[in-house]
Amino acid sequence: MAHYYLICTYILAGVLGLCVGSFLNVLIWRLPRGENIAKPASHCPKCGYVLKWYDNIPVLSYCLLRGRCRNCGERISFRYTAVEILNCLLWLACVWRFYACGIGAVIACCVAVSALIVCFFCDIETMTIPDSMIIGIALSGLALLILEIFGLGTGISWQDRLWGMGLGLAFFAFFFFFYLVVKRKEALGFGDVKLMGAVGLLVGWQGAILCTILACLGVFVWLLVRLLRRRGGVQTEQGEFPFAPFLAAGALVALFFGDAIISFYLSLFV
Ligand SMILES: [Zn+2]
Repeated sequence: MAHYYLICTYILAGVLGLCVGSFLNVLIWRLPRGENIAKPASHCPKCGYVLKWYDNIPVLSYCLLRGRCRNCGERISFRYTAVEILNCLLWLACVWRFYACGIGAVIACCVAVSALIVCFFCDIETMTIPDSMIIGIALSGLALLILEIFGLGTGISWQDRLWGMGLGLAFFAFFFFFYLVVKRKEALGFGDVKLMGAVGLLVGWQGAILCTILACLGVFVWLLVRLLRRRGGVQTEQGEFPFAPFLAAGALVALFFGDAIISFYLSLFV
């Protein structure tokens, strides 16, 4: 019977994950532009064709229409389908990783990973992080904190979560104001500071440190690749780059594998 419930949960998470992923695309487009997220209905950005329900089935519609608008034939970015698949896979991962903790923990983590996906793509495309998504991550962390008190959380104590939030806010706010005052420029957006506070609440202080280290490693590798490509004669844009995608990716690793990575790291010294 227990297996039956688990299989049903996987199927439900997979199907809902695809549908919510489809909605995340709407959020990624509309939140940074301040548009209403419910109206108007999804439409082709080129010809204005309003999508019917059968044009809006996650993944399937994209394949059937071969990635083109039904009306005008304009190419539809594969990113929309990629977001749907990504959200689906991460929701399945939430079931795999947190089912044993209880269904409340699974739901809270699903909300958090979806909000992280939106932050990831919004920051890449518009260099902004929607406050509503940061609040979503923080509320997931808060829900897990409360569940933990009843023994149904993901195994991170409420103290560790609060320390994580404090550490994330303090550490990133320090760099934000340091650069603002000393270097007279914004090296980080303030959105990164708020995001890191929410992530700290989600993954605890150990996870927040892991997330920060991974994000910095990611930036380092990315800058190195960019430098090598420029030397190779490929033109790339200068200056500002989004930091939240690295933080979001680091937060996902910390959420799913934080325990394993931290205990492996500590085992090296014992
Ligand atoms: Zn069209």
